[in-house]
This record gives sequence, C-alpha cells and structure tokens, in this order.
Amino acid sequence: MKIHTKIILLLIIVIFSLGFSVIFFVKEFISGRLSAELDEMGLCIARNLASNCIEPILVEDLVKLQKMISDTKQLEKHIVYVFILDTQSVPVVHTFGDYFPKGLADAVSGIKTAVGALAPYNEPKGSTPYQIQILSTEQGLIRDIAFPILNGRLGTLHLGISEKYIQEIVSAIVNRLILIICIITVMGIVLTYFFANRTLSELKKVIKSIKKIGEGDFSQRINVKSKDEIGLLAKTFNEMAEKLENTNIQLKNAQTQLIQTAKMATVGQFAAGVAHEINNPLAGILNCVRSLLADPEIKGQKRGYLELTLKGLLRIENTIKQILSFSSKHEFKVMLADVNQLIKESLEFVKHRLTEQKVVLELNLSESLPKILCDPYKIQQVFLNIISNALDALTVGGKLSISTAMIDKNIEIIFIDNGKGIKEEHLDKVFDPFFTTKEVGKGVGLGLSISYSIIQQHKGTISIKSKENQGTTVVIRLPVNN
Ligand code: ADP
Repeated sequence: MKIHTKIILLLIIVIFSLGFSVIFFVKEFISGRLSAELDEMGLCIARNLASNCIEPILVEDLVKLQKMISDTKQLEKHIVYVFILDTQSVPVVHTFGDYFPKGLADAVSGIKTAVGALAPYNEPKGSTPYQIQILSTEQGLIRDIAFPILNGRLGTLHLGISEKYIQEIVSAIVNRLILIICIITVMGIVLTYFFANRTLSELKKVIKSIKKIGEGDFSQRINVKSKDEIGLLAKTFNEMAEKLENTNIQLKNAQTQLIQTAKMATVGQFAAGVAHEINNPLAGILNCVRSLLADPEIKGQKRGYLELTLKGLLRIENTIKQILSFSSKHEFKVMLADVNQLIKESLEFVKHRLTEQKVVLELNLSESLPKILCDPYKIQQVFLNIISNALDALTVGGKLSISTAMIDKNIEIIFIDNGKGIKEEHLDKVFDPFFTTKEVGKGVGLGLSISYSIIQQHKGTISIKSKENQGTTVVIRLPVNN
C-alpha cells in the first residue's frame, strides 16, 4: 500500500471516529436538555391547569372544563392531547373528539414509575407526586405528564407532549454534523493528498539522486526548498555527494598521475637506452662530418651533401638531447625564483616568433606573488614548451594570454591561446611521451611529458583543457613552500 493511501486511510479513520463520537455526545446532550425543557414546560402548564380546573370539577361544569383543556391544547403545537381522569380512572373530559382511545386510561394509570426524573418544582409535602412516562403510540413517542388534581382527590390531569419536536431538532443537528464531517473529510483527503504528494515528490527526488550516485554519477544534487526533515535529508545528501565527488576527482587525478608516471618511467627507460646507444656513434659521425667539412678540398656538390648531412645529424643530436633530458634524473638546482620574471624571460626567447606571427599578447601578472623555491631553468623550460605549443597552434594575429595569481597557497599560472585547439580524442594523450600531431621534424612529442614530470617533481600540478578550433588552456599550480 502506498504512503498516500496509508495516510489518507488513517485520516479517514481519525476523522470518522472523532466525528461520530462528537455526534453521539451532542445527540445525548441535546436530547437530554430538550427533554428537560419539555418536561419543565409541560409541568408548568399541567400545574396551572390542575389548579384552575378544581372549581369546574367541584361544580361539575363540564363545558368549562372541556373549554379549558381544549384551549390548553391550542397553546403549544407539541401538546397532542389533554384529558382528565376521575379517581376511578374514567375519562371526564378529553381532547380526542368523539372517542377516548381504548386502553389509554389503563396505560397511563398502570405505570407507576416516573420517567424523566426532573422535578423542577418542589411539590408541597404530602402531595401526590406527578408522573412522567413515555408512551409509544401510532403517532410516535409521547411524553405523558400526569398531574394530580387536588392531591389526587379529584382525579388526574394528563398532558401528552410529542417527542417529535426533540427528534426533529436532534436529527437536524446530527445531519448538519454529518455534513460537516463529510466536508472536513473531503478537505482533509484533498489537502493530505497534495501535502503527501509534495513531500513524496521531494522524497522521490532524493531516491532518484541516491540511485544515480550508486551508478557513479557524483554530480547529483537535490534541489529541495523545504526546511523540514526532507529538506535536512536533501542538505545532508548534497553535502555527502559533494564530498564523494571531491574524493572521486582526487582519486581520478591520483590514478591518472599514477598511469602517467608509470608510462613515463617505462618509455623513459626505453628511450634512454636507445638514446645512449645512438649518442656515442652519433658523436663520432658528427666529428667525422665536421672534419670533412673543414677540408677546403671538398667543394661543390660533395660539400652540399656534407652540409645537408650535418644539418640532419644536428637535428638527431637535438632530439637525442631532449630524450636524455626527459629520462635523466639529474639533480635540481633549487633556488628562490620569481615566477613572473621567469615568464617574462621565456617570452624574450620567443620574441621573434611573437612579432613574426603578430600575436596579441595579454599579460596579467599578479604583483603580490611570493618567490618560490624551484629549479628556475626547469620551470622556464616548461613555460617555453607551453608557449611554443601555443605559437604552433596560433594563426597570424592570434591571441595568447598569460596570467598569474595566488590561489590557496599555490601560484597559479594560466596560459590561454585561441589557436586550433586539440581534438577530444587526443586530449588524454598529450602528456604521453612521443605523442605529437605535428609534422615530422617539427615535434618530437616530448614537450608536455617533460613539462609534466618537471611540475610533478616540484610537487605541483599541470592540466590542459581544449576545444578544437576554439583554443587551449594550460593551468599550472606550483606550491609556495617557504
Ligand atoms: P610536440 O610539441 O613536440 O608535439 P608536446 O608534448 O609539447 O609535443 O605536445 C603534444 C601535442 O599536444 C602536440 O603535438 C599538439 O597536438 C598538442 N598540443 C599541445 N599544446 C597545444 C596547444 N596549445 N594547442 C594545440 N595543440 C596543442
């Protein structure tokens, strides 16, 4: 059974049991009060009539007696009959018309028990008490008030008051109460339905988000505005999701770093071996070519070939140097350095390219940067690699912006270019050793991997974001360690 249904059922049970208890008590109370009032009224009338009819009975003026009881009957619409019985229980006068109902005299004189124990008037001591009894007749229940005339020596006066009046009022009140209960129930159901729906829809949001978190989507947040327990649940959930997301990001970063380090270690070892093997014979060949070129006898086409060979060999030597510097674990020359200064010096190295390509350079260097302990030569090598890559990606008139700032005890250096960008499928390979998209002779694919390992050795981080045909952003964070 759904929670909605359970709440609504509970509500109906509560309203109905409360409602019907109220109806029961109200019915009892009102009919009690009305009976008392009717008794009081009836007794008052009976008492007056009983004392007024002493004289006509004594003089046997039946006409007057009849008029008196008929007038009394007209007094109140609830009075259904009035009659007088003599001491032998024989009707003297009555308001029934031609025939006095058979058995009525026996019915009213046979019952000795007083019904409706109310006795609002203190009867004089020694007087015959009045009697009130309920008669069940064809016209419904009738309260019969028997009042003795002259202490019962002249007979008894009987006044019949219909109970219909009480029943009508009570049933009108009960009907209204039932109507109110029904309205309250319908309103309660509607309100409960909307309230439960609202609450449950927020609860459903929480459940949905928990499911998504379970599927590994840690970006889930719940937008619940209420400040009740569900709001608190959502707030706690959001806090938990944020912590999970952060932990997950940290885990992923650590994992990528681990993979990157492992890749670099394997490739680095292999590359270093190859580079060493090539380096020694290469030095010999270079010497030979240089000695041949020093000979003035070699001229013309032969000299041309030798010069080409030397050019090629120098390029190989440069690549080998890069490979060796990537794989070598030589000591850092650590000193206090100004990052802004290192950026400016790196830009000096590529000044000619910046002018040649008409690059719009935007520098936003924070003036309040502290100096940091680092190997300035290595850090500059990183900056140069990144700036060179940006220049390779930029077309004439492109824009390069470099900014520095202090963020949480780290110096953050951001390089943004609006060059050709990196294809999405290449993004997670750019830090891999020997990954390049540049044409042969232009790139070896070591710039970013060397930069990565340098920054890692400085206990910093480097990340790259890029969109093809829109540009690339490289963010470096270096800890301020002093
Ligand atoms: P290389 O420059 O020798 O290719 P890198 O490791 O420096 O080696 O760069 C690897 C690859 O990353 C580049 O070949 C290029 O595809 C991509 N790359 C790096 N920086 C940028 C940049 N700013 N814009 C576009 N592509 C870039």
